[in-house]
Amino acid sequence: MKALCPQPMTRRCFLDKTAKTCLSLGLSPLLLDVGQAQAATGTDSKFEPAYLKLHESGELGKRADELWAMMKSCRLCPRRCGVNRLNGMSGVCQAPGTELVIASFHPHFGEERPLVGRGGSGTIFLSNCNLRCKFCQNYDIALLGRGDESSVANFARMMLVLQTIGCHNINLVTPTHYSAHILKAIDIAAGRGLRLPIVYNTSGWERLEILEVLDGIVDIYLPDFKYWDSEMSAKYSSEAESYPEMTAKAILEMHRQVGVAKPAQNGIMQRGLMIRHLVMPNDTGGSENVMEWIAENLPKDTYVNIMAQYTPVYKAYDHPEISRRITKDEYVKVVTRAKDLGLTNLDVQGYGWLKG
Ligand code: SF4
Repeated sequence: MKALCPQPMTRRCFLDKTAKTCLSLGLSPLLLDVGQAQAATGTDSKFEPAYLKLHESGELGKRADELWAMMKSCRLCPRRCGVNRLNGMSGVCQAPGTELVIASFHPHFGEERPLVGRGGSGTIFLSNCNLRCKFCQNYDIALLGRGDESSVANFARMMLVLQTIGCHNINLVTPTHYSAHILKAIDIAAGRGLRLPIVYNTSGWERLEILEVLDGIVDIYLPDFKYWDSEMSAKYSSEAESYPEMTAKAILEMHRQVGVAKPAQNGIMQRGLMIRHLVMPNDTGGSENVMEWIAENLPKDTYVNIMAQYTPVYKAYDHPEISRRITKDEYVKVVTRAKDLGLTNLDVQGYGWLKG
């Protein structure tokens, strides 16, 4: 399904069109050497992305093939649908077989500040989703599948365009059901000069077996921890009862791989774990429990973005308890609890507009 620009054109659409124009004109880092690419993106010249060694040894390609083969009886995510995507079948995520669908790619200035810097986070919005939340802010992309089919080679070129225009990272939004395509694209792009860190921007609901394949490839894990209570995850995310338990285990594995997120001297994040938690109305997410779990199981300086921007959309209106924004009191309560627990690296910006 083709993505259409709204009228008047939004900033996201403008940036997406600019990036696509670069792609169609062949503007790629073939024109840049690695040093120039690092200068353009403000990347520390000593920085080496995690995937480079695996690309050079051929291991990255092998791991991509391993994930690709898993689509024969698909178990790339905790749904374990078992459908044969290699034969064009779709599972719960609605990804059309092995076709890759991408909604947009552009510098994103609305992500966490250490990812955005001056050049923006090089965001690629992948269409379809395995979690399928009723309140999804990107439901047109994630649930309705809006986007354009793309080859893996084109996906790799998008990464290179984002590097060329000065983005600080490659931010893969909703990557889980396309993990095989992602590894193949990184392998191609790395051979053509990609040197940006990879951000795995996931719902957090990941299988450990898949995360182990990603070990040494992803530089920054950016998982949500949406729910503490499995009844809530089942109710609002299409029967995903295992969400709290699997996400907790997944986050521990992500931390084992990349450690605490620490920005480079220029303030740009290049490696580490950055957790997001969206505060929902009526404590639907079990926010204080999530903060307690983080404080008990991870270092106190773990990066935690406590997000205030919950907005009811899509099917949220079918459920009165999640059909409003949160109040300032609801938000402040979570932040206060996180601070009391000793968490020191909290991202708590932008909630001044909330009502009391
Ligand atoms: S990635 Fe899609 S098809 Fe594969 S197991 Fe998950 S939901 Fe099912």
